[in-house]
Amino acid sequence: MAGGVLDGLDTMKDDLASFYKDLHAHPETAFDEHRTAGKVADRLRKAELEVTTEVGRTGVVGMLRNGDGPTVLLRADMDALPVTEQTGLPYASTVEGKMHACGHDVHVTCLLGALELLAGARQGWSGTVMAVFQPAEEAGGGAQAMVDDGLYDRFGKPDVVLGQHVAPFPAGKVACHTGPAFAAQDMLKVTLHGRGGHGSMPATTIDPVVMAAATVMRLQTVVSRELGGDEKAVVTVGSLRAGTEANVIPDNAELLLSIRTFTEPVRDKVLAAIDRIVKGEAVTAGADRTPDVAELDRFPLLVNDADATARTAAAFRSRFGDGDVIDAGQMTGSEDVGVFATAADVPICYWLLGGVDPETFAAAAKAGTVERDIPSNHSPKFAPVVEPTLSMGVTALVTAATTWLGGAG
Ligand code: ZN
Ligand code: ZN
Repeated sequence: MAGGVLDGLDTMKDDLASFYKDLHAHPETAFDEHRTAGKVADRLRKAELEVTTEVGRTGVVGMLRNGDGPTVLLRADMDALPVTEQTGLPYASTVEGKMHACGHDVHVTCLLGALELLAGARQGWSGTVMAVFQPAEEAGGGAQAMVDDGLYDRFGKPDVVLGQHVAPFPAGKVACHTGPAFAAQDMLKVTLHGRGGHGSMPATTIDPVVMAAATVMRLQTVVSRELGGDEKAVVTVGSLRAGTEANVIPDNAELLLSIRTFTEPVRDKVLAAIDRIVKGEAVTAGADRTPDVAELDRFPLLVNDADATARTAAAFRSRFGDGDVIDAGQMTGSEDVGVFATAADVPICYWLLGGVDPETFAAAAKAGTVERDIPSNHSPKFAPVVEPTLSMGVTALVTAATTWLGGAG
């Protein structure tokens, strides 16, 4: 069945590649995806989908109705990152300080390709495809913005949510993990209050730089000393800011933290430990004021439904062969795609799509240098190989969607 839908893939490869390169060259960050949304809407209209723009600010919804049958939501995120590209690619970012460093341009291109194939082969399936092009995944809030803008009241509820993310493993492979698959993330801002003064007279001050340094080091013990061997978390201090001059002790210091967890009890434990350490180090430093701990943002845990994942993975295995469908395990990265499933109370299967040139990956694996030599998502050198990544992404989406849609009428 999906075979017939996929017949047109070979003839669209060049067009998809140039569309992808154009998106890559013109990255737009969270809720600023105006050009991208316009390009998406144009293509969807050409493929004769019902198109609605500005859903959840810059989101786009395309409805492909094809008679009775289940409704399948296919999701692609559209936003880029505030990263300066260092890939040296001929189609590298033309926008200073912005880059598609997470491959959302791959997701958009693959979803468009899949929709065009489905629209061109309506005899091969029945039901409704609800294509969701989401803004602002990186900053969080994009999926929720679309739900809050009446996504399901306006377009109906799906029976399943499907989607994919490109990842740093060999192109030509897909990875499915059942159960908790992407971590919950809490982002915190910690303000440490000291007492500023002259750099030559530290005794008259409470130095927030030293307080911050001690706090950062002590935070490293949360995961290493307070969690059990079967408990998983990541605590990262991504930003530490204090002072501007060599000879001035500043008043305060600010830390930005990202915390990844997979269960509610571990999350509670880690957040409590962070709170205790931050406040404890302030007491130790003799600070007059308790530090402020503010939650900046939160991503929910993404839990892949067991039945939906088994069904989708089985379809992938029969399409790609057992060896090309892997389980890459739990990702410590976070994703807000689960918001769509939670809000509709339906199952989700969200898989990973390999994006690294297979020979490059094999050479790094052989040398034991994958972590050093294969740029991960968010790296300024992140550069998915165009093929077979795009073809695999399109094929995976069509395969998964047609597994859930009705058969040929
Ligand atoms: Zn990302
Ligand atoms: Zn991403």
